Amino acid sequence: MKDKAIATPTRTKDILSQYGFAFKKSLGQNFIIDVNILENTIKHAGIGQDAGAIEIGPGIGALTEQLGRFADKVVAFEIDQRLIPILSETLEGYDNITIVNEDILASDIHDVIQSQFDPGQRVHIVANLPYYITTPILMKLLMDRLPVQNITVMIQKEVAERMAAQPNTKSYGSLSIAVQYYTEARVVMNVPKTVFMPQPNVDSSVLQLTLREAPPVNVKDEPFFFEVVKATFGQRRKTLMNNLSRHFTGQTKAELKDVMMAVDIDPGRRGESLSMEEFAVLANQLYDVT
Ligand code: SAM
Repeated sequence: MKDKAIATPTRTKDILSQYGFAFKKSLGQNFIIDVNILENTIKHAGIGQDAGAIEIGPGIGALTEQLGRFADKVVAFEIDQRLIPILSETLEGYDNITIVNEDILASDIHDVIQSQFDPGQRVHIVANLPYYITTPILMKLLMDRLPVQNITVMIQKEVAERMAAQPNTKSYGSLSIAVQYYTEARVVMNVPKTVFMPQPNVDSSVLQLTLREAPPVNVKDEPFFFEVVKATFGQRRKTLMNNLSRHFTGQTKAELKDVMMAVDIDPGRRGESLSMEEFAVLANQLYDVT
């Protein structure tokens, strides 16, 4: 354990030059150089001393080190092999941290949770995600239906806003529904680009996802529900009728109109005005006629 945190400009520069490490843009490598941001993120996650934490993409260990201070046990997945020997030195002394050199998208996270954490231990996912694959990573974490308390991630501000968006806003779309079907989503903090090395072109936010025990709506068929949502937002400026008839070519406009009228949804509305409940009712009604 070193006296000085990794997440400072000087220590980060020292580590990078010591190992001759060159950032790979293709892996979304932007390291955090501000300890306060990391501590606040961990506070938002609500990690207790006896909790477990999973991190995705530890980099040189800036967040990992802080998680190691606050959590009972930390498992971090890092795809870049060059970082493994660096992490073993920067995190030296933290016996409660395990680094797994794997692509998170190809990992069996259920298996890792079972083998690395105590039965019944609260587990939190915390990460400064690589921005090029934020959505695939989050959708994998949600669709895997992991036994975790919450997911607290630093991501591109605009994507965080889309994931947490409510109806009748510019950011609301199929991504909002996909994320909020599994979680309660909240932007808890904005993060300026100046706290990263190298600085990205975009600002970031910390998004907190609290996993739901059950979906907030009853749907007859999940893939069909998401298909309807996606189709509805196909062309944002077009009406429900336009988007649905373009997608469900096996139905006539009159048939689609009957479906919408049966559930009291005006075919002239736009997708962005529909609540998740309305999408569910519409998809269930449509499911029976397609
Ligand atoms: N946590 C560090 C920090 O905050 O300073 C680094 C965050 S950096 C934005 C993202 C990290 O994710 C990089 O270390 C990158 O190598 C790693 N990474 C990228 N794609 C990955 C993947 N598919 N699986 C696991 N790690 C990945």
